[in-house]
Amino acid sequence: MMIVMAPHATAEQIESVLDHVKSEGFSPHRSDGKEQTGIGVVGIIDRDVDPRQFEVLDGVAKVVRLSSPFKLASRQFKEEDTVVDVGKGVKIGGPDVVLMAGPCTIENREMVEAIAPIVAAAGAKIMRGGAFKPRTSPYSFQGMGEEGLKILRAAADRHDLLIVSEVMDRSQIEMMLKYVDILQVGARNMQNFDLLKDLGKVKRPILLKRGIAATVQELLLAAEYIMAGGNRQVVLCERGIRTYETATRNTLDIAAIPVIKSISHLPIVADPSHSTGMRHLVAPVARAAVAAGADGLIVEVHNQPEKALCDGAQSLLPGQIQELAREIAGIAKTIGRRFHPPV
Ligand code: PEP
Ligand code: MN
Repeated sequence: MMIVMAPHATAEQIESVLDHVKSEGFSPHRSDGKEQTGIGVVGIIDRDVDPRQFEVLDGVAKVVRLSSPFKLASRQFKEEDTVVDVGKGVKIGGPDVVLMAGPCTIENREMVEAIAPIVAAAGAKIMRGGAFKPRTSPYSFQGMGEEGLKILRAAADRHDLLIVSEVMDRSQIEMMLKYVDILQVGARNMQNFDLLKDLGKVKRPILLKRGIAATVQELLLAAEYIMAGGNRQVVLCERGIRTYETATRNTLDIAAIPVIKSISHLPIVADPSHSTGMRHLVAPVARAAVAAGADGLIVEVHNQPEKALCDGAQSLLPGQIQELAREIAGIAKTIGRRFHPPV
């Protein structure tokens, strides 16, 4: 960490900062420039220290972190990309762009059985579907729970698909491990630290969605919670953040994808459904995310979206997911990656 003194800082203020650094148990390294003095704080791990404790001292202009506040999730710690092995040869973070698709929520057996072949036909390897739904209103459909997961597992198995489904509470983890291949942490739960800590103890990949008001750094610190517990199989998800823009449900932060790629080794996928909120916007945004380097997509699809219990407006129609899959294959090839939709 580097403390940069203001150009007009007095000799007393500089001395006082040096004393403060020493009194905190660190050794200060002073370097006097032409206009400003810099004080390197040596002997601390940046991630454990709040820079504001130095920033508020008299005569300090700013404090600059020299290493990231997260460690296990950072590229400084691990240079090569993490590839998350979900099973059945499906790997997220390698050369393949991975498509996950399915309904927002598991509604009943009939609809899940109707959607599974559509998902498989588009070349998706992983089927999504929530059994526990974090709904804004307590009066909205809350999900089928374990019964829904049984339905999803059976349909997915019939089509050789893996499953991703949201865990809302730590009490659900053990039961869900019987059915799901990836445990999803939803945007609303990104900073549910007790949940993250418990997910650190499981040996199953985690799909960690960015919170609607979370910075990239906060997302990576949330991933750090899971990794610090011992589970290194974390896939990040950019699902849009809340901004002043109302034309879309959320604002997909496309730049977050290359930003995260540069500072973290973890794979990242994009969710063009929850970020846009409307069917006609999903494919263009999905294409952009893949072009920006996303390792995969998680997309909502429905056989009868007009009757969907949840998020019908943003669910792709069967033909649309097929078309999107073809487009992704083209983009993947252009940028030196692979996506093979069935012909
Ligand atoms: C979901 O994927 O079903 C979901 C609720 O998404 P998010 O947590 O991103 O809102
Ligand atoms: Mn949804």
